[in-house]
Amino acid sequence: MEENVRTGRCVVAVDGPSGSGKSTVSRRLAAGLGARYLDTGAMYRAITWAVLRSGVDLADAESVAKVAGEVDLRIGTDPQGYGVTVDGVTVDAEIRGPEVTAAVSAVAAVPAVRALLVARQREMIVHARRIVVEGRDIGAVVAPDADLKVYLTASAAARAQRRSAEDAADVAATAADLARRDRLDSTRKANPFQQAPDAVELDTTELGIDEVVARLRELLTERGVA
Ligand code: C5P
Repeated sequence: MEENVRTGRCVVAVDGPSGSGKSTVSRRLAAGLGARYLDTGAMYRAITWAVLRSGVDLADAESVAKVAGEVDLRIGTDPQGYGVTVDGVTVDAEIRGPEVTAAVSAVAAVPAVRALLVARQREMIVHARRIVVEGRDIGAVVAPDADLKVYLTASAAARAQRRSAEDAADVAATAADLARRDRLDSTRKANPFQQAPDAVELDTTELGIDEVVARLRELLTERGVA
């Protein structure tokens, strides 16, 4: 523990399903810690955008992996605003669109895509040293030695409500899409979405963002990390 205070290393893994509050919480936590922030979901989304652009069949894992291996994917780590580019094209808005959202779980299920992105994510974590990383497999796979692992949950109704408000979409349709993605993400063969056994679980259904961030800061202080 004291080792961390001395070296300044601080890696926080925030996992959870869509709508659990992990993006807002992670960005705010990173900004408060003066740390970097990595949205791994945005990386899977950017690869998905490239796959859709290439026109290859989503069911053809080999071709999907080939596209993933050939594109130049770049993502910033500034918690105040990061950009994502694919082959020099800014795709921040496109990767949040319905086409990418509908296809991302299939692309994220391809083992070679995961291997590629997990390796990139690990490099970025080593390079940053102080970073909040959000995703689905961060505590279990990407950064098993994280200083703090958090698993955020919220009721299905609260998650659908939050996401539909963000996307200005219908609540029922959003709830159905979240349920579909949860099912695909947790049943895929390569790195199924799983909670790390040593993650602290926080149900955010009744909590505001500030309360969740404050709780995470407490946990880091208790651990002597930040
Ligand atoms: O977090 P977000 O909803 O943007 O993630 C989009 C999708 O990317 C998820 O539904 C999941 O299929 C995939 N993903 C993943 N592993 C991660 C982050 C995201 O498989 N670490």
